[in-house]
Amino acid sequence: LRSNSLYQLLLVDVVLPEMSGEELILEYRSRCSRCVIIAVSSIDNIKTVSNILSAGANDYLIKPFDSTLFMARIRANVRTFLLMEELEEKRKKLETMAVTDGLTKLYNHSHVHRILEQTVQKMREFGRPFSIAMLDIDHFKEINDEYGHQEGDAVLRDLANIIEKSVREHDYVGRYGGEEFIILFSETDEAKAKDVVERIRSVVEGYTFGNGNLKITVSGGVAQLENTHSPMDLVGLADERLYRAKESGRNRIVAGANTS
Ligand code: GH3
Ligand code: MG
Ligand code: MG
Repeated sequence: LRSNSLYQLLLVDVVLPEMSGEELILEYRSRCSRCVIIAVSSIDNIKTVSNILSAGANDYLIKPFDSTLFMARIRANVRTFLLMEELEEKRKKLETMAVTDGLTKLYNHSHVHRILEQTVQKMREFGRPFSIAMLDIDHFKEINDEYGHQEGDAVLRDLANIIEKSVREHDYVGRYGGEEFIILFSETDEAKAKDVVERIRSVVEGYTFGNGNLKITVSGGVAQLENTHSPMDLVGLADERLYRAKESGRNRIVAGANTS
């Protein structure tokens, strides 16, 4: 118990030199909810057996026992353990799927909103700057029309990669809509966020997508959280600036008036 490593299958005697089997089982169970703990003892009174099971043991074997029965009990418990492991793995996969966009593997729209609300609250609490960017592919409809939707999908995946590689580990990137991406820049003011997004714009401009000569450009809007902003106000402001970037000729990033 002193070591940090956990066994997945544990046979415990009820009477032990340093602590009681019941204490050991309680402690072990609190550290490992799915481990198989089997108590083994010659004590056969109902109170002890029920206490040991209540403490978290999966099973209780009374000594002396037949070796065939012993192996059968172990197998039965291991079977349940493996089933639980499989369920847990599936649950984790579903949990990931629920927050992930299938095409780009970025966070999906609803998860980005959850993160946005949490981050705005945190940045406010600690008085730290917070900025976001909305990016949209220019004339993407024409790319689909010219090269087909499969190539269009490949462009979205490549662009998602480029964006993810351009931001820091604790920034969040999401697919906001069809060909629209959002970046949440923690602890970052508008000027710094704009620099990063400008770099993304420039990388995209120089990148050849797909396996031929496919070129795209992106437009973006950047905004920083102000005291009066709700999370949605911030998204609205970034969106407004994205719209201005489109209106003023595309392949450009627009931030606030004071941001160089
Ligand atoms: P603008 O420069 O104004 O943004 O023009 P645009 O053509 O990019 O904008 P518009 O909103 O007219 O069209 C967006 C296109 O994005 C239309 C749609 O077919 C495409 N699109 C959205 N989601 C997907 C997707 O998952 N895969 C593919 N291949 N295309 C998508
Ligand atoms: Mg577009
Ligand atoms: Mg769009």
